[in-house]
Amino acid sequence: MLFDFHTHRVGSLSAIHNCFPSEVIPDNGYFSMGIHPWLLREDSMVDELETMLSVIHHTRLLMIGECGIDKTKGPDLNVQLTAFQRQIDLSQIASKPLVVHCVRAFDELIRLKKSHLSQQWALHAFHGSPQMAIQLCRMGFYLSVGLRQMEGDSGMVRLRGIPADRLLLETDDDPHPIGEVFGKAAAILGMSIEALEARVVVNVQTFLGRSLF
Ligand SMILES: [Zn+2]
Repeated sequence: MLFDFHTHRVGSLSAIHNCFPSEVIPDNGYFSMGIHPWLLREDSMVDELETMLSVIHHTRLLMIGECGIDKTKGPDLNVQLTAFQRQIDLSQIASKPLVVHCVRAFDELIRLKKSHLSQQWALHAFHGSPQMAIQLCRMGFYLSVGLRQMEGDSGMVRLRGIPADRLLLETDDDPHPIGEVFGKAAAILGMSIEALEARVVVNVQTFLGRSLF
């Protein structure tokens, strides 16, 4: 099974579909729910957090998020940090892992993770260096990448720098199918698609702390 850890497209049963609180929960398949920093608005935040609180124990809701910090988009940093902290709290209440969006805010992210070391956090669309990958993995992070993060020489170096037992793959909002993501990653890593598929399934289940298949 080519598992898609984070997608905004509905319809696949081997994927985690990302929902915003304003969206309808898909009829079947796994999903996550979070307030994306780009869509965060101070006046609707409380209502959206309420919506999330009402579904956190849904059996098909696997993770809280995507949520996080983006210094290139979205509202003021303090508002973003407040919303992120509230969603970290929801993840704690639900005992479900967190899927994080982070752009140019790694210092803040690392500081927050240090005070939540026992929680499972995955960083999606990881676009940092191999050194950053090692630093994040030492703190327990899992790292998810898609085609964009594997582009060019720096993308190859990045992918090879992610510890094998922390690697996740995703399509996010990219229209290419997850098969292409696995194909490209397998080629860069010099392994068969079957071996990569098995590796990612183990990683997904270890990260979530439950069996899915
Ligand atoms: Zn996304």
